[in-house]
Amino acid sequence: MSAGLVIAIDGPSSSGKSTVSRAIAQDLGCAYLDTGAMYRAITWFALENNVELTDPEQIAACAAVIELRESTSADEPGIWVGDADVSAEIRGPEVTAAVSKVAAVPQVRAMLVERQRAIAAKSDNGIVVEGRDIGNVVLPEADLKIFLTADQEARALRRALELGQDPTEIEQSLATRDKADSTRVASPLVMADDAIEVDTTHLELHEVITHILDLVRTRS
Ligand code: C5P
Repeated sequence: MSAGLVIAIDGPSSSGKSTVSRAIAQDLGCAYLDTGAMYRAITWFALENNVELTDPEQIAACAAVIELRESTSADEPGIWVGDADVSAEIRGPEVTAAVSKVAAVPQVRAMLVERQRAIAAKSDNGIVVEGRDIGNVVLPEADLKIFLTADQEARALRRALELGQDPTEIEQSLATRDKADSTRVASPLVMADDAIEVDTTHLELHEVITHILDLVRTRS
């Protein structure tokens, strides 16, 4: 395990995990890892290769040959498949609609969990890792575990404002993804017993960040 603090931030889609996690890592001067981007990159690669997403074997075979590379800089996060920077493409609607299928495949999860642990282990200044299973599965020994939540409506509104899209449609897709992520057999989204829940529904972003940084200080 690294010498700096290891902070796990889990929660459902659009709970503000990425913005909050990056800001915390920037403030602490430590590394930052967006594990959702890793699942999204495999999904992008599977779609590029016309993999049949109803076939877990095909998805696992595709994941086995992918060459992933990620930047753990909180200032400049990014993800590459081979030489292709896919950081923007992986946020598109096709990947978003398909990613839960890829993330439900146990071989994909096993491969990424191992990679995520290795990245955390070599982050000497500490790391903020965000995802769905970080506190429970990837880094159960993390120094601080946060579970970020917000009402579904509030999350949909935030995402709609960000993308300039209709909140009702977004809420539908969030609900579908939340359900898939929370009910899958392999590592469903569940709050770790020792995680601290932070409900961001009625909080401004800066309030969430200040609150978590206060919690970090109690652990350092
Ligand atoms: O965080 P983000 O919305 O980018 O994650 C995309 C998807 O990746 C999630 O809906 C979930 O299916 C999957 N995921 C996961 N475990 C993680 C991170 C993301 O299953 N640690």
